Amino acid sequence: MSQVIKNVYEFIHVPRVAYFSMEIALANEIPTYSGGLGVLAGDTLRAAADMALPMVAVTLASRAGYFRQEIDAEGRQVEHADLWEPSRYATRLDAAAALSLDGRQVWIGGWLYVARSRTGGGIPVLLLDTDLAINDPQDREITHYLYGGDETYRIKQEVVLGVGGLAMLQALGFKLLGYHMNEGHSAFLTLALLRRHAYPPEDLRPGESPYNLPRVREMCTFTTHTPVDAGQDKFPYELVQRIYGDLLDLGTVKMLGGEDRLNMTRLALNLSEYVNGVAKRHAETSRKLFPGYAMHAVTNGVHSSTWTCLHFGALYDQHVPGWCHEPELLSRADRIPDDKIWEAHVHAKQDLMDKVRQITGVELDPNQPILGFARRMTAYKRPELLFADIARLKAIAGKWPFQLVMAGKAHPRDEGGKRLIAALHAHLRELAGVVPMTFLPNYDMDMALAMVSGADVWLNTPLRPLEASGTSGMKAAFNGVPQLSVLDGWWLEGCIEGVTGWAIGDDNPNANGGDAAMLYDKLERVVLPLWYEDRAGWVAVMKGAISKNASYFNSHRMMRRYATEAYLR
Ligand SMILES: *Cc1c(COP(=O)(O)O)cnc(C)c1O
Repeated sequence: MSQVIKNVYEFIHVPRVAYFSMEIALANEIPTYSGGLGVLAGDTLRAAADMALPMVAVTLASRAGYFRQEIDAEGRQVEHADLWEPSRYATRLDAAAALSLDGRQVWIGGWLYVARSRTGGGIPVLLLDTDLAINDPQDREITHYLYGGDETYRIKQEVVLGVGGLAMLQALGFKLLGYHMNEGHSAFLTLALLRRHAYPPEDLRPGESPYNLPRVREMCTFTTHTPVDAGQDKFPYELVQRIYGDLLDLGTVKMLGGEDRLNMTRLALNLSEYVNGVAKRHAETSRKLFPGYAMHAVTNGVHSSTWTCLHFGALYDQHVPGWCHEPELLSRADRIPDDKIWEAHVHAKQDLMDKVRQITGVELDPNQPILGFARRMTAYKRPELLFADIARLKAIAGKWPFQLVMAGKAHPRDEGGKRLIAALHAHLRELAGVVPMTFLPNYDMDMALAMVSGADVWLNTPLRPLEASGTSGMKAAFNGVPQLSVLDGWWLEGCIEGVTGWAIGDDNPNANGGDAAMLYDKLERVVLPLWYEDRAGWVAVMKGAISKNASYFNSHRMMRRYATEAYLR
């Protein structure tokens, strides 16, 4: 499907911003992502390609992917390696870099993938790969499993990404203006930059540090993506030193990365001039978590054409031409005739129902609303909130029948997340005959598009204030699907009650307790009655989601902000 290009040198004459991310969702066939972080990275590059921003991206090849999810007869997640073949989509780079890891020399090769814009622009993406015959067998696996293995494995991956990535850019001859770290995984990059830009010994007075912190800080941008502690790597110094002894002197590293353990978030914060959270509330939360840093807020966005289904895309082409590259034009979507909006939605819903039938055999009813819920399955996302009171849920369905389509993967070591998947399958059996419900296995980008466009309502129930941004609700907005969500992350900025969607509860970050009751009330008294009894009113909310949210929460707007505030400062 993707076009393999001959070489990387056509990209090298332009000075670029290097974007580092552990995961990037490049295409549905390339399983180098686990969830929202990777999809955002992919959307970042797709928008950058549309805007012809001079960027180059660096990530790992993750040849065994994240994992392919199967659900067994008991409703439990089973994980399989998700192998992909880089040579089918990318071109081998004729450059290599070497590092000493755990006492062995490890060679890093790589692949060039080009993230293409429909208008012809392209962003080169370097997929780092240690699976080379020259390497020790265990080192060949360093770039195989995304977020796999133990702490030692993770440190090796992060050194390959940050230090190896920089070396590879240099080996290829890229001229760079700056570096953008998408999450802390790539923060070893800052140490490699400190070493590269160190003052020569002859310029130093005795005892003076060779490291030019202001110089490196000037070049770096850091985006933090989660206030969840588990999402931020902290490594024991002994382990880091054993694996990668080439670190700077320990005193300097501890000053930058924390006394007790190497905190990758802190390291990135200390060496980046521009740091940001991914929504206004998330920046506030991060300021409390890491006081003393000038934390900006650049609210996330999603890529217009990637996240708009064919039916709505055709409608926008007709009524708001140019929307792909200038999604602000969607603020004019109010002009699109109501019946055309509804018709496009009916088609998208039919596509989802077809997909559900093919995958699970379940036949959904086009005359009942579908509530959609899909995201990484992990505790703070609270997928079980809707099932807090089964009797109440059944009573609501008795009055206003509705259907549920759910999906999501749990990290293989997130036992709580896996229990949630099993619990959802138990609810599925419990609700049989009352609420038609399916869980689609192996959530990926294609399934996400089918769900965010085919559902009638997109549901999100995170534990405040832990949803840094959330992006699937933005994807839904591009397809005229309104969100019913807890007020956290981007929804604090996007929700206009009854106009773009609906809020569950208020914006008090400590008031999670009553959310289930408020979710039931909103469903029973507002959302479901509107769907059944006032189609014009419903379509007005669909239009509100498009014209007020899709027109703003898109990655073109997001990249204009990164370009003007962070890259070109
Ligand atoms: C958009 C997306 C996500 C992120 O969803 P959130 O609601 O923001 O958590 C995760 N996985 C896939 C495959 C996606 O497309």
